[in-house]
Amino acid sequence: MAEVTTRQFVPASQASIQDTQLRQALQRAGSGFDGTRREAIAEVTPEVWEGWREQARRIKEHTIANLDYYLAMLERNVAAAGGQVHFAADARQANAIVSEIARARNVNVITKSKSMVSEELGLNHVLEAQGIEVFETDLGEYIIQLAQETPSHLVAPALHKTRGQVARLFADRLGVPYSDDIEEMARVARVALRQKFLDADMGISGANFLVAETGTLVIITNEGNGRLCTSAPRIHVGLAGMEKVIPSLPDLAVFLRLLPRSATGQRISSYVSMVTGPRRPDDEDGPEEFHLVIVDNGRSRLLRDPALRESLYCIRCGACLNVCPIYQRVGGHAYGWVYPGPIGSIVTPALVGVAQAKDLPNASTLCGACRDACPVQINIPRMLLHLRHNLAEGTDAYQRTASDTDALLARGFAAVMSRPPLLRLGRKVGRALLKPLANNGMLGRVRLPFLSRWTGARDLPVPPARTFREIWRDELSQGGN
Ligand code: SF4
Repeated sequence: MAEVTTRQFVPASQASIQDTQLRQALQRAGSGFDGTRREAIAEVTPEVWEGWREQARRIKEHTIANLDYYLAMLERNVAAAGGQVHFAADARQANAIVSEIARARNVNVITKSKSMVSEELGLNHVLEAQGIEVFETDLGEYIIQLAQETPSHLVAPALHKTRGQVARLFADRLGVPYSDDIEEMARVARVALRQKFLDADMGISGANFLVAETGTLVIITNEGNGRLCTSAPRIHVGLAGMEKVIPSLPDLAVFLRLLPRSATGQRISSYVSMVTGPRRPDDEDGPEEFHLVIVDNGRSRLLRDPALRESLYCIRCGACLNVCPIYQRVGGHAYGWVYPGPIGSIVTPALVGVAQAKDLPNASTLCGACRDACPVQINIPRMLLHLRHNLAEGTDAYQRTASDTDALLARGFAAVMSRPPLLRLGRKVGRALLKPLANNGMLGRVRLPFLSRWTGARDLPVPPARTFREIWRDELSQGGN
């Protein structure tokens, strides 16, 4: 499995916030993606958009509730089309399956199109350790492979890199003259990869969807590399998490409307590739063998937990990352594993172990922007709260993370917030105590227990002189509107 550094979330995010180049790259990409997403959604009426979201949600609810049935249907139909399905319980098994397919067929060179699951498995390192050359061919993945980094976004893996950083990387690693012209950089990558496509014995791809009724693997991309990976080499191996299955082609049509709009603001992506088995006798091209590796690797834990099951509805569009105030400041690498952002903060603890990732459910302001943006209406804030609750209370498989002091404070906070007279008194006392320490109504760094951790990174407003209720009441009594 890919290296897990989720325990480092707090120091890693503090370091990211200091990185001005990263902040610029995140801001540019985040507002760009979110802006085009909003424009694309505005092309249809709100009723139409919400109708699509509800349809998608219903399809996912139904499929995940009947996952065993649809996985069995998918397996039958892949086999009927001449392919083979392999089920992998964990990363070790998935890597062993792909390694064995490659070893038994004397594979020396592999080209890959984008696959977050292969990142999750750490597959490249496993294959390279066996002497196999592995080339990422998605431009973003190619960039991070050259930089020996990991993806920082679900859709745009090299989003954290500025144009100048990529130009410098190409000059250093490929020996080409420095140029930060995007077309020129794309041309350089194309030239570097062309021979690899011709040399490859095996192509590995991810899958955006797996259609059970036809046994079809669907890839949605903006680069032609996916098609070359799945059709030029003699063997094609598709990798997918088990939640990627959907029942039918009409269901696919719903997601084809939602995914490109939510991911990149496109009505449709440049390529929608549908692979059903290996080449047939009368096909002009295509692989001789098709293998589909369906990966669990912790997803069953999400499936078993009714409170977290809806995280399996995710179609990895990245929209929640682009609107998340935390992701937009710390970037993807701070999260310490493959799936960053709001949805990553739910999926990662389940897949790598809660003890490894206990800070992630707290990496959210619970503002709800992720839920509003999600094309499948996934209630991310509710699941984050559920995880926080389990961690604070130490329920079931969760190790308690709250100290006795934190627990006492939380109980005190809850008691005050649920009793208006106490809240009013607390505001008055808090204001009287804190106002002398404040500057323009704000407290800067305060070296007092409990307050120092908050004020070390942000200002703390002094409780106001009048509450919202008082202002409202006074305005009304003065005839305001
Ligand atoms: S949770 Fe929703 S918005 Fe976030 S990546 Fe998944 S589908 Fe997209």
